[in-house]
Amino acid sequence: MARVNEHYLKLKAGYLFPEIGRRVRAFAAANPSAKVIRLGIGDVTRPLPPAVLSAFHDAVSELGDEKTFMGYGPEQGYDFLIDTLIEKAYAPLGVHLKRSEIFISDGSKCDTANILDIFALDNKVAIGDPVYPVYNDTNVMIGRSGPADERGYYQGIVYLPCTEANGFFPDVPKEKVDIVYLCSPNNPTGTVATKAQLKGWVDYALANDVVIFFDAAYEAFITEPGYPRSIYEIEGAKRCAVEFRSFSKTAGFTGVRCALTVVPEEVTAKTPTGERVALGKLWNRRQTTKFNGVSYPVQRAAAAVYSDEGWRQTKAIVDYYMENAKIIREGLAGAGLAIHGGVNAPYIWLKTPGGISSWDFFDRLLTECNVVGTPGSGFGPSGEGFFRLSAFGNRDNVVEAVERIRKNLR
Ligand SMILES: *Cc1c(COP(=O)(O)O)cnc(C)c1O
Repeated sequence: MARVNEHYLKLKAGYLFPEIGRRVRAFAAANPSAKVIRLGIGDVTRPLPPAVLSAFHDAVSELGDEKTFMGYGPEQGYDFLIDTLIEKAYAPLGVHLKRSEIFISDGSKCDTANILDIFALDNKVAIGDPVYPVYNDTNVMIGRSGPADERGYYQGIVYLPCTEANGFFPDVPKEKVDIVYLCSPNNPTGTVATKAQLKGWVDYALANDVVIFFDAAYEAFITEPGYPRSIYEIEGAKRCAVEFRSFSKTAGFTGVRCALTVVPEEVTAKTPTGERVALGKLWNRRQTTKFNGVSYPVQRAAAAVYSDEGWRQTKAIVDYYMENAKIIREGLAGAGLAIHGGVNAPYIWLKTPGGISSWDFFDRLLTECNVVGTPGSGFGPSGEGFFRLSAFGNRDNVVEAVERIRKNLR
């Protein structure tokens, strides 16, 4: 008799986005003339930069010619892309990586989930609250937790509140943990960690033999100087941290799919008998067995992001989104709302006015302004009373949405 992985049954049915969809559809059906503007999604909207598209096309053509055809590539990614990342993405930060420390993949979502394969089940895991839901749900799926309580906290997972009081950056836990997820710039709060904040976590990780999973999917959106774009800018991080980066938000690759995971040679964890094993060795074994690489044209397109022309164009798109963020931020602050984020991340995290719930604010925004956002409580209990607006959108829509909120939000 085949039996299912019962841990999946502990998961609450995908609630947040289906529920948003349901409420928006009901509103649109009752108000067919309303023009609803969506600032809820965490997906890019601008097309690929032309230099990237052109490299993509050229590489596709190579596959159509017997002389330049490519079959399976290295599971870890092609050296041309890895070398580009070493030179263009990391060396300028003063971070020096070896080829063997970078693993190209088809997404950070999958990598942050798949990395759990190489860790023992009885590791204690800590995640932020609110959080990118993938970190939580993938740990539940593999059986690291008990059931959820009525607030949505799963037994056995340590939740680190990210609130106004701590500037939306988690404090180190009081209890012993083994693995911690950090995401900066943060989805959903739109805030970014300082060097001092990350150093606090790296020092803690080294002192307590903790591995940090550092999700830097939004590093390209940092606009102010001085904030770390990589955790390896912090001394000692190569001994305790794995870093995830993605071309998804940086260069509009959410549909193209390319990302990277950095596993430095020095980062280790222990066997049951206390010997240290390099995580990179296990990750390499995992990837070469379960993954067959990212397609050649996609890797050529990704490398073109870092060409002079490609980077100029990529940066212009990031600037476009960040100008949207500024319009939202300044417009809503002018309307008397308390705003966080949106300076070094494409998300604005606003406090709901008058202390109303995230879902009540969602309904008001939808019915009074015909604007859709994301209730903060959907990202975790500590997100209650907050609301996420995304800067990934068309400029005219962003301007109109802000105008409507200023005029109509009573
Ligand atoms: C969008 C996003 C990613 C990127 O995921 P991909 O699978 O690379 O598209 C990773 N982490 C966070 C927090 C994100 O919001």
